[in-house]
Amino acid sequence: MTTSTSSAWIDAAERHIAGTYKRFPLVLVRGEGCWVWDENGRAYRDFVAGIAVCNLGHCHPEVTRAICEQAATLVHVSNLYYTQPQIEVARMLTENTFADRVFFCNSGAEANEAAIKIARKYFKDRGEGDRYEMVSMVQSFHGRTMATLSATGQEKIRKGFEPVLQGFRFVPFNDIDALRKALTPRTCAVMLEPIQGEGGIRLPDPGYLQAVRRLCDETGALLIYDEIQTGMGRTGALFAHEHEGVCPDIMTLAKALANGLPMGAMACTETVARAFAPGAHASTFGGTPLVTAASRAVLRILTQTDILAHARAMGERLMSGLRDIAARHAVLREVRGRGLMIGAEIDGDGTEVVMACLEKGFLINCVQGNVLRFVPPLVVGPDDIDALLSCLDEVLGR
Ligand code: PLP
Repeated sequence: MTTSTSSAWIDAAERHIAGTYKRFPLVLVRGEGCWVWDENGRAYRDFVAGIAVCNLGHCHPEVTRAICEQAATLVHVSNLYYTQPQIEVARMLTENTFADRVFFCNSGAEANEAAIKIARKYFKDRGEGDRYEMVSMVQSFHGRTMATLSATGQEKIRKGFEPVLQGFRFVPFNDIDALRKALTPRTCAVMLEPIQGEGGIRLPDPGYLQAVRRLCDETGALLIYDEIQTGMGRTGALFAHEHEGVCPDIMTLAKALANGLPMGAMACTETVARAFAPGAHASTFGGTPLVTAASRAVLRILTQTDILAHARAMGERLMSGLRDIAARHAVLREVRGRGLMIGAEIDGDGTEVVMACLEKGFLINCVQGNVLRFVPPLVVGPDDIDALLSCLDEVLGR
């Protein structure tokens, strides 16, 4: 059965939805675990997972139960009031990380906005008003709002929206000398992804994150980790920076935080958190009972089951299988990754490979034009991985 390219739904979408996405010709109607189904009833193994969002798989029963129960109890009240699921998620996040306090919002870009704002406010409150510059990385991705695209080290993301927010400098990831040179007395923060996601699954060199931490400590700049893609178990640890043993002052989360409900968070130390007094920042929907009830279930599963060990084992299986394929087919140049955040760099454009996999019943995607990205639900099984590997072996062998 081939993928449907003509559908009344797709025709309607092309007429009525803003054209910000180049979509695959696929109307998805249902999901369960690592599988999704299209409108014609065809099943696909999903190695995209909503781009590292559905980490527990589609419609995880415990998360679904939490959402349904909360939807029938209390969906939204203002943040003028306390709500129990929000308090519990804040407690779980702080108990499991360096952070002391959490600000809740609705997306990754909003979490990074909060991080950028609090870093500036932190120094303003100390009387260092001209300390507002930030250093982030070439090939980084931090979002599409005006501040977060200004922090994003990719020209194509900023193009057309100039003038962008002032005060951002970019240095190559893994280049500690460049970072040292870029830091000035005006630098309020260094912002980076512990593994670059949209930039092509780029891992830090051994010791790099420790060296960044040292530079921040020496200069007094705050360190911000954007764990929006790497967090919530994606790399086989709850947060990717745990692999490196160095903590930031601020960490941003979204994507898998509520396994598919829109939710973001900015977590930080007590000292930093003081900069967000009442009136400094806010969000109507941030941390509603509904999304935090889902997130509470997500965090319970991530911290109290063996899912992270499973993710590590499945990641190793996928990476070693990909390396075997690389040994057979030179078109596969390099395999990079940690846990279940994996990239395979190929010679040439990845679109054809992605489409060929789709035809064979596998959802994968491609970043930076030639890096195939695999970010399946962490519950992916050995059979799913072996099936994908034999599909790729055939497709790349052509
Ligand atoms: N930061 C990182 C590392 C991301 O991967 C993304 C999204 O891909 C974002 C920020 C932006 O998140 P959102 O699309 O929820 O605004």
